[in-house]
Amino acid sequence: MTFLRLLSVLKDDILLPQPIDISVHKPPLLLPPTIATFVSKATGIDSESISACWSLLKEEVWSLPRPELSMAEEGLFRDNGWKMGLTSLTLYPPSHECQNRHCTRATPLKKEEPRQTVVYTLGHGALPAWAVHIYCPDCNTNYHHNYSVQAGIRTYYGDTPNYIQIGEHQFAERKLIAMWMSLMLLAWVSATNCAKMYDMALSEQQQCDFADGGWQFGCVLTTDHVWDAFVTLTLLNYHNRKDTCLQVPHTGAQRDRFTAAMRARNCEVIEEGQDEIGHCCDRCMRTLTRPDGTEYDVQIIVGDGLNMGHYRCQATHCTRELSNNRHKFCPEHQSQAGICAIVGCEAPVIPEKLTCVDPQHAEMEHLHFECGRAAFTLCDRLHKHRLAHPSAPAENPVDDEGDDDDVRRNGRGFGMLA
Ligand SMILES: [Zn+2]
Ligand SMILES: [Zn+2]
Ligand SMILES: [Zn+2]
Ligand SMILES: [Zn+2]
Repeated sequence: MTFLRLLSVLKDDILLPQPIDISVHKPPLLLPPTIATFVSKATGIDSESISACWSLLKEEVWSLPRPELSMAEEGLFRDNGWKMGLTSLTLYPPSHECQNRHCTRATPLKKEEPRQTVVYTLGHGALPAWAVHIYCPDCNTNYHHNYSVQAGIRTYYGDTPNYIQIGEHQFAERKLIAMWMSLMLLAWVSATNCAKMYDMALSEQQQCDFADGGWQFGCVLTTDHVWDAFVTLTLLNYHNRKDTCLQVPHTGAQRDRFTAAMRARNCEVIEEGQDEIGHCCDRCMRTLTRPDGTEYDVQIIVGDGLNMGHYRCQATHCTRELSNNRHKFCPEHQSQAGICAIVGCEAPVIPEKLTCVDPQHAEMEHLHFECGRAAFTLCDRLHKHRLAHPSAPAENPVDDEGDDDDVRRNGRGFGMLA
């Protein structure tokens, strides 16, 4: 049974070294020598009997769906496979054939380039794996596990895959990313803490295991990986719903890769609203009649009194983007950053303060922050933290190092009093 299960997770590794005229849909007659040696070591079957077993069971191996390996079977890979370059998980492109409609190539693609990666999973912790790119020399397309690359443009395949690339050499399981997203949206866990929690509780691997197995980099997860996972999965789900394929630049820095795609999505929400905007039903809408006989619709909305604005330039009616979420003004209005926060006062601020030398303005600033520290405000905040499952809609995740006060400071709330 172990023989069948180990070989069925290695199907793609068995196929790749086969000659070009061998079909990718049927099991080949011979096992590649490395795989035969590994299976022999892992199962204890001697190497002569391995080829006999393969001839007998190859059809069964091929028809078996990919099994979930047990911890003991993962251990067989760690002890015997890693050093030989064999891992239980190898991330291949979805097909061994060129998927480009305009390409005339009919034979399977063989120009492969394996790379060492780390896959973060929910059930088995951090696992070393190989990610294989396959190249089509006829149309210059490079096929990766999640996307294909042509002329510097990365086009994701039109579905949401089980393992999503979250860094140059890192992948994460979709279920795990969904868990990070829920933690961030419902329990206000920061991306940094999501990463730390995974390393402490779920990773199940030691840096030294990876080094012994010949892996050049460790298994420690970073804040950036969690953020990239969040953004990638959100965009993939969004494009999936719309039946389109996500396209992003393949070159340039990782931090800028998804900016244009996110901007396009935001523009769509601004122009067309959320999906819920078109909703009306007999329960939430009433049609009333004015004395002159004309009819009008009234819709009820229910809120909890909390109104979180998004990050925006504080200049009146300005819709330009901030260059950093911690800035108060966009680059265009940056000159206003040094002006007193009290509406109507144009005097320059004193260093480290938001108001000018006018003692009355300074007192208003003082009172504003006193209010934030008052017992009733703190009680209120504590109470909110204890809510098991907030009924409020998801908040914008706050930048990791920034705290609640950064958001308050950004808003010129107390300016309204003047
Ligand atoms: Zn091609
Ligand atoms: Zn309704
Ligand atoms: Zn502005
Ligand atoms: Zn002032």
